[in-house]
Formats: sequence, structure tokens, C-alpha cells
Amino acid sequence: MIGRLVVGAMIRAFAVDTDQMIYALLTMIVICGESRAMRKAAGAALALVLAVGGCGGSRPTDDGPVRVVAGFYPLQFVAEQVGGDRVQVTNLAQPGAEPHDLELSPHQLASVADAGVVIYLPGFQASLDEAVAQEAPARAFDALSAVPRLPNDPHVWLDPTRLATIATALADRLAAVDPAGAAGYHARAAELGDRLADLDQEYATALRSCERRDIVVSHAAFGYLADRYELRQVPVAGLSPEVEPTPRKLAAATQTARDSGATTIFFESLVSPAVARVVADSVGATTAVLDPIEGLEPGATGDYLSVMRDNLATLGPALGCA
Ligand SMILES: [Zn+2]
Repeated sequence: MIGRLVVGAMIRAFAVDTDQMIYALLTMIVICGESRAMRKAAGAALALVLAVGGCGGSRPTDDGPVRVVAGFYPLQFVAEQVGGDRVQVTNLAQPGAEPHDLELSPHQLASVADAGVVIYLPGFQASLDEAVAQEAPARAFDALSAVPRLPNDPHVWLDPTRLATIATALADRLAAVDPAGAAGYHARAAELGDRLADLDQEYATALRSCERRDIVVSHAAFGYLADRYELRQVPVAGLSPEVEPTPRKLAAATQTARDSGATTIFFESLVSPAVARVVADSVGATTAVLDPIEGLEPGATGDYLSVMRDNLATLGPALGCA
């Protein structure tokens, strides 16, 4: 009887902290060694505490938000939009840096190992592909697995409809990790899907009737955009921004630009415009920024949606769209 009262008081006193309670009950079993009834009561309470809170594996919501690690900006954007306040998103790429070149610090490697979900695009950041394979294969979310793929092109987010599909798949994954948040994840993914559908409609309308459909670009990042809106991408460099084009490739690109009647050669914001300028000068065209949205500029105030609209505002006049 006394034992039951004491244990009850201790459960109330320490109810907020499982570790403290386990410690108190263990202490009690030792102190009350001579009283069989109290020893038994304390032992039973300890078993209950361990069963309920101690060893069941960590559920993300017990420790606050689900920790989500994203390889680079567009994945961060989707994770934040779908996750809302139930997730805490870390972007591994630094603002203003070219995310293809990502090297993971030991601290970042630890964050991959500890994450509830790691969102990545296989083939985009080799060091993250490797870290996922070693540290987090079961907790990785492969964003490309949800959508129809184009060969050798990871820049899937530049098609808003595919990004909406990824958002839906991510909501399913987050709901599996954090079932209590499932309704919110699905609602936010649907809301993002609506905004992406609006964006898609704006693109389709603005690019419906154009004098030119070739986009001459310094970085072959726009395959999915071209695929969605029936444009033809003419890259003047390889897939990786740091790879300089060979003289032969440059000559071929210049010829293609001339043939297509391009009046604008596009370059991207995070790498040097030098290659685009060379081609533009030799065909008498101008240059303009078409942002592949691999990352935001440091201090940028926009987001994925606003940069996509900036790109559309550049594309329409450059292609002579009605
Ligand atoms: Zn790229």
C-alpha cells in the first residue's frame, strides 16, 4: 500500500521525463531493498516506463520536427513547402555555390546519418550519392524515382508538373515517417501542386506561339523544361557547368545558334557567362540569364516559383512569342 502510493507520487512528479523516472525507480528499488512490497511495486512501474517510453525507437515527433536533409535548393523548397512546421530542413549546398560540386564536411556527413529523411537526386551530387549509400540508404528519398525520367539529365525540377509529382511522393514518405502529420503533408502537397499547375499554365500559354523554339544555353540544364513546353535545347557546353566546351563543340554550337536564328544566348547565374558571350558575339546575338534554379543567389528574396516566372519573362521575348 505504502509502496503503491510512493510509486504513484513519483510517476506524477517525474512524468515529464522518462530518464529521470527510470533513475528514480531504480534508486527506489535499491533504497527499499528490505520491503518486498515496495520493491515489487517499483519494479513493476519501471517495467511499465521502459515499455512505454524507453526503448521503442525514436519517433520523430517525440523529439520535435522531422529532420530533413536536402541536397540543394529545389529539394529544400519542396521539403519546406510539403513539410511545413513539422519538419526542419537543412540544405547541404551553400548559397551562391554551384551545387554539382558539393563536398560534404564531416558535420554534414553526420547530419545525413542522423536525418529522418534525406532528399537527393541520384547523379546530381556524387558526394551525396555516396553518403546516402553508406549512411542512410533506408531513409533516402530519391526524387527521380517518382517521375518519368529523361536520359542523363537530373534537372527534373524545371518541369513544374514533375515537381508536383515529386511533392506528392514526398508527402507519402513524410507521412510514413511521421503518421501524426499525414493529413498536413498531403494538404500542403496538394496546395503546392495547385500553385505549380498555375505556373505550368502560364508557361504553356506564354510559349504557345513563338517565332523560335530553340534555346541556346551554356549549361544543358533545361531538358525537362524543353520537354514540357516543346522547346529544343541547344547546349554549348557539357552537362557539368565546369566543363569547358571543346573548340569543335563550340564551332558546332555557334553554327546551330546561327541556323536557329537565335537572338539570345542564355547563361546561368551561378557560373561564368564567358562561353555564352563567345557564341553570342560570333552570331550577333545578345546574352541573358536563364536560371536553372540549382541554388539561390546569396541574399536572394525570391523562391522557386518567382525565379521560374523570371525565366519565363526572359524566354518569351527572346523566342519572339506572341
Ligand atoms: Zn546542372
